[in-house]
Amino acid sequence: MPRLGPTENASVDSTVTDLDDLPFHARFTAVLPGDPEPSNQRRQVHGAAWSPVPPTPVAGPTTIAWSPEVADLLGLDHQLCRSDDFAQVFAGNRLPRGAEPFAACYGGHQFGNWAGQLGDGRAIALGEVTDRFGNPQTLQLKGAGPTPYSRGADGRAVLRSSIREFLCSEAMHHLGIPTTRALSLVLTGDAVVRDMLYDGHPRPEPGAVVCRVAPSFTRFGNFQLPAARGDLDLLRTLVEFTISSDFPHLLGTTSATVDGPGTPSADGQLPVGAWFREVCERTATMVLGWMRVGFVHGVLNTDNMSILGLTIDYGPYGWLESFDPGWTPNTTDAANRRYRYGHQPQIVHWNLLQLANALVRLTDDPAAFEAGLDHFVETYQHGFRSMMAERLGWGAPRDDDEALVSNLFEILVSTETDQVLFFRDLARVPVDAHAAIPDDALLAPLADAWYRPEELVGDVRAAVVAWLRAWAARVVDGGLGDDERRRRMDAVNPRFVLRNYLAQEAIDLAERGDGSRVIELLDVLRRPYDEQPGREQFSTRRPEWARQRVGCSMLSCSS
Ligand code: AMP
Ligand code: MG
Repeated sequence: MPRLGPTENASVDSTVTDLDDLPFHARFTAVLPGDPEPSNQRRQVHGAAWSPVPPTPVAGPTTIAWSPEVADLLGLDHQLCRSDDFAQVFAGNRLPRGAEPFAACYGGHQFGNWAGQLGDGRAIALGEVTDRFGNPQTLQLKGAGPTPYSRGADGRAVLRSSIREFLCSEAMHHLGIPTTRALSLVLTGDAVVRDMLYDGHPRPEPGAVVCRVAPSFTRFGNFQLPAARGDLDLLRTLVEFTISSDFPHLLGTTSATVDGPGTPSADGQLPVGAWFREVCERTATMVLGWMRVGFVHGVLNTDNMSILGLTIDYGPYGWLESFDPGWTPNTTDAANRRYRYGHQPQIVHWNLLQLANALVRLTDDPAAFEAGLDHFVETYQHGFRSMMAERLGWGAPRDDDEALVSNLFEILVSTETDQVLFFRDLARVPVDAHAAIPDDALLAPLADAWYRPEELVGDVRAAVVAWLRAWAARVVDGGLGDDERRRRMDAVNPRFVLRNYLAQEAIDLAERGDGSRVIELLDVLRRPYDEQPGREQFSTRRPEWARQRVGCSMLSCSS
């Protein structure tokens, strides 16, 4: 599968020192039909993929943080990122030359129910630019003011959710998991009123704008809406645009097409089946990444699913600290826990099914979509086995690993266990071919992973020790040398993730005017797989105060 990102083209060595020199190059708005009406009055938009809408200016933009890697990707001079003009542009107060701002029109299934038109209700794209590798990147301001799609809401975003989106986008990227990126986090100087827990306590909070960056922000819901409305012309145009601009390598393959199965695209037909299969594969790769690092998206509605298989729309997400497949941070989903950690692969599969239901309208070949969905399941299952074998230092997976892996999940819930620390420190548990290591020595490297060490007695302790001995025997069978094994385990089991309470501490400080922790965390999360001496405080298990604190273990969709 071709990789996304700066791998295909040679880098261009031009540095942008003035935002008016950003190389805008519209594709989405140039090719796809737009809404003729320029106002941001709330409305249903038919027959168009986007609406022209400028950001609404804010009172006093100041930059809290920016990502040096994303600046480099865009060829932005770092001095420019410190300028007032940078804050003005990425808060939406000044349009750089060439920008043609727009909001995209899409629908989606929310919590399993078809919700009709949603659209970018507070995200406004400035346009598409060419990055320094020659690849397209859309610059999108989240929280930039009302659009035709804002429905009853204000088009704004609060500082707390903006910090969470900014940090997590970059953390995810550095963990090696496909994601939209974040260039900047700018305070607007305006207050935004939110009822944080939807419990009748609205209060003003500081507002902010994040500039998100991705090759495309197209969602499953972009295809679902025209399909649901029976607008097959728009659906076909969108599919054609997406394949030719984001999946050009597929033009020339043979597979199901919009006009019938098995026809080569040389005669002008679109390889919809091959494309859907690739979307399934990329989506499987993304969710495997989440399951590996313990990320819970929180709102896996189909409008929050990227057609490129990128993690998108960081809302009430959370990081699994204690291993618990049933956990979700999203209080809005507390009753059914539809989007809980352990359910994410099934939910993402269901979302792909909804996408298939939209796309199948264009072809008479449902078999290609069934094959794509099967490909998702196979890719996920195969990937999961390989991933677990890699995380556990076994090298190549074996068919009989399943029992040991499910046994591991049992011991991880037998007493509250921090899954990040457990996997990371497992690499430090001694292994020998003769099983002669005393129990205490086996357990010692994992001591920090248990929230209640006093529970590690009796049957619980015996089961953990028995598992560790079986694990060690499998390690010996796997044949990786100690150094090689530790290196490989450390490359897939991060030391640093954006623990919920770490984000909240950074938010608390930033709300009091001190953005330094945001910048420090961004720096820590840049190297999640490295030991970082002196930064141990960012890799300890969740403190007791954070267990039930709003923002740490409980988040709503209010943002
Ligand atoms: P989300 O749950 O954040 O994915 O949002 C679902 C839909 O509601 C999307 O179409 C958003 O653009 C829209 N939305 C969320 N918050 C706001 C807001 N404050 N103002 C306008 N639209 C919003
Ligand atoms: Mg969304």
